[in-house]
Amino acid sequence: MDAEKLIRALPKVEQHVHIVGSTKPETLLWLMEKSDKKLFKTVDDIHSFFQYRDFPHFISIYCTVMACITEENQFERITYEMLESDAKCNVRYVEASFSASDHVLQGLDYGKMLDAINRGVSRARSDFGIECNLRIDLVRNYGPKVGMQILDLIESKNDNIVSIDIGGSEELFPPKPYAPVYRRAKKMGLHLVAHAGEAAGPESIWEAVKELGVERIGHGVAAGKDPKLMWYLLEQGIAIEACPTSNVKTGVVESIEKHPIKAFFENGIRVSVNTDDPSMFGTNMNNEYLQLHRKLGFTISELFEISLNAVDSSFLPEKRKNNMKQSFIREYQRLTKENLSYY
Ligand SMILES: [Zn+2]
Repeated sequence: MDAEKLIRALPKVEQHVHIVGSTKPETLLWLMEKSDKKLFKTVDDIHSFFQYRDFPHFISIYCTVMACITEENQFERITYEMLESDAKCNVRYVEASFSASDHVLQGLDYGKMLDAINRGVSRARSDFGIECNLRIDLVRNYGPKVGMQILDLIESKNDNIVSIDIGGSEELFPPKPYAPVYRRAKKMGLHLVAHAGEAAGPESIWEAVKELGVERIGHGVAAGKDPKLMWYLLEQGIAIEACPTSNVKTGVVESIEKHPIKAFFENGIRVSVNTDDPSMFGTNMNNEYLQLHRKLGFTISELFEISLNAVDSSFLPEKRKNNMKQSFIREYQRLTKENLSYY
């Protein structure tokens, strides 16, 4: 099997993917049809709309897409299609991000949205065998008070929810004010993640790890500029969810070649690779893996290590994590005919 075919066939886990950012252009046209926002007529129009000057511009386009969702049950189709596309890349498990506050503040019902998402998840499980849990992005722009209200909602209904996160405009809203929200989420048994070091510098990552106690950092690009921080992440076992194509498309890094994922990997940090908003960035999980191979020289066994990192730092219970790891290793051995000593 040639190298690229093998990379596509590798079993994978996706840890950082936003449901809204996975809305396919055809599906966005369908959403617009059903709303009063008939902004575009063709898929090509949408492709041209999905071009970003910088990170704040990306956020504004994301908000336009988000506002096109006007009925709770539309989440079923979006979630199902997100998982269908992941399954085609041999992704076996996904931790998908749902920005509940965005939609609750637009008047949609939290419980109905969660049910619709979970219908998409169970249909995808029975059609493709892919598993999916949810992380709730509290969206830092709304502030910690709304964050607490979302925790109330999670307390009332938490089907499939494994963690919280803060995405949104990092450059304007630092992590620290969220400390009480994160303390409460931890007591509720939720795992803790924050977007950090994407649109702001290393200080934002330091704050997320010190003040919020996060287990994983979304993006973490800025850690590449701070060797002390990289050492700290390694020492504390804090994982990085890298999203290379996303970072190039929003102008956070100049090119894949300049992405710090190689430094994270070489320094032994548990780094995974993810699409972030696959439809809005024109990417998928196979493409992310292939880019690392083509442009940063990651070998197949290194890419498989990244895949195992994603299993290791996932929020699955230990037993399921171990089972998944063993099945990935068996699959890798079958694909490469290599004998590994990972057991
Ligand atoms: Zn993200």
